[in-house]
Amino acid sequence: MTRGPIIATDLYTTVMTRAGWVCQCAGECGSAHRRTGGTCQAPHTDRAHLIAAPPRRVPDHQAVTVPPGELRAWCPVCWQHLQAAATRARAATAADSQKSLF
Ligand SMILES: [Zn+2]
Ligand SMILES: [Zn+2]
Repeated sequence: MTRGPIIATDLYTTVMTRAGWVCQCAGECGSAHRRTGGTCQAPHTDRAHLIAAPPRRVPDHQAVTVPPGELRAWCPVCWQHLQAAATRARAATAADSQKSLF
């Protein structure tokens, strides 16, 4: 018996099948995706695997509690931008709370 990649779980397949195996980003990454009608639509390929994740960043210890219905398909490009945006937002929040200390 051969084992597939770790990402090929039932949940992953469920999310991707629901998404039609294309990126479901609707601008969360910061791109308007105008060329493809507002959503990214980048397909799952051998070289660009889609990622199943919620549209907002969850702390690692909460990841297991994300309901499957909240998971969406992201292409690596959108996912990277989404993470970068989340990091910037966190930095801004940290800066704000630091300011309020003084
Ligand atoms: Zn995308
Ligand atoms: Zn996007």
